[in-house]
Formats: sequence, C-alpha cells, structure tokens
Amino acid sequence: MWINAILEYWLSSPWPIAIVIATAVHLTIYLVGAGTGTLLTTKLWPRFNIGRTLDPTPPRAGQLREEFRAGLVTCLIFGIVTLLYRPLCHGVWPGSWGQGLFQLLAFSVFNNLYTYSTHRLLHSRALIRYHRVHHRSVRLTPWSGYSVHPVEALIIGATLPVFMLFVPIGIGAAFFLHDLGMLYTTCIHCNYELMPSWPARHWLKRLIDDPAFHRVHHTQGNVNYGFPSRVLDRVFRTNKE
Ligand SMILES: [Zn+2]
Ligand SMILES: [Zn+2]
Repeated sequence: MWINAILEYWLSSPWPIAIVIATAVHLTIYLVGAGTGTLLTTKLWPRFNIGRTLDPTPPRAGQLREEFRAGLVTCLIFGIVTLLYRPLCHGVWPGSWGQGLFQLLAFSVFNNLYTYSTHRLLHSRALIRYHRVHHRSVRLTPWSGYSVHPVEALIIGATLPVFMLFVPIGIGAAFFLHDLGMLYTTCIHCNYELMPSWPARHWLKRLIDDPAFHRVHHTQGNVNYGFPSRVLDRVFRTNKE
C-alpha cells in the first residue's frame, strides 16, 4: 500500500526530511480542516438553515491573521515533536482489529486524562502565561483551535509520544490519532451548533465535549476543561452546560 511505503520511508529518512514531511502532513490537516470548517459554518450550513451559529458577532480585528500565524507555528512544532514517534513506535499498523480496538480504547482513556490534567495545569498561576494566547480567542473560529503558545503546542504534541511510552503502537496509528485529534479540536472551536435539539438532549451528547460546551470554557475560563469527553469535568465538578 502506498501509505505504508511513505510511512516506512519517513521512518528511515534523515531527520530534517522527516520534520518537513510530518509538518506538511499536519499543516494539510490544519488547512483543510479549518478551511472546510469555515466554508461550512459561515456559508453553506447557514444558507440551508442547517444548525446555528453560537456567537453571531464577527471576530475581532486582526483575530484571524493572529490565529492563522500561531497555527502555522503550531504545525511546525508538531512536525518536530513527531520525530519522537520514531524511536517509540512498533511497526506501522496494529497487528489485528482486536489490537487496534484495544489501542484506540487505551488512547481514549489516556487522552482524556492527559488533556484534562495538562489543561488544568495550564490554568495554574505558574503556567497561565503559556495559555493566554489560546484564550485571546473568545469569539471562536475554526482557526482558534491551534492558536496556542509554542509551549502549549509542545505539550499537545507530546500527547502521543507520552502515550507510546506506555502502550506500543504503530507509526501509522500514531499519525492517525494525532491528526484525528487535530480535526476534532478544529470542530470544537467552530462556533457552530450542528445538532438538532433531540440528539442534543441525548445522554451520549452530554458525555462528549462539543462546540457549545468548549465555548463556555473560552467565555468563562475556569470550567469545561476536558475534551474529547466531559466525564472528568463531571467527576471534578468543573462542568458547566
Ligand atoms: Zn479552546
Ligand atoms: Zn483554557
């Protein structure tokens, strides 16, 4: 398969080339994800009366340029941190569907713990200066998700390498999980509620962080830290619907 050939080449390529390739992959996901998100949430869905905009005020002057610039730096940092996958990975893909499912479940649990705890630490007095860049976006846009300080980008980029210290996964799975996370982060910053009202009341919806839930974090600051799930916010009583 061509994708396996690229991944195997990436594993054995000199490190500057590996950084360029990894950065290009993350940048493509960032640009396509946020670009598509912008098109859908500002043009297509409103035109056909699908869903609703959460905050109808326009972004502040210069916000989009600021977010875009920070997003490019974040993708470069992700590209550099991705080098850590090389000594930590085991093969390319999981050996079986069962193994893949186990890795996905293990990562889901780890990811929720990692994001909740690092996000709360970033709100501490010692680290808040590294998180203020992200909170400059109060009226969110799909570009807000990766508008972060380089230190925060390092912490986010380290999610998979830290996980790989505990659970061995293939290089393809590592790229897949990181870039899936990038798309999800773009979604929760898109300032758009897509769900009709009946699934919005469904118990499953109340467990998963969505754009409305994450928006409350950006407007109030000290609630709704968790993603992708709201479980830890419920456990530690930091959730606000
Ligand atoms: Zn955010
Ligand atoms: Zn925050």
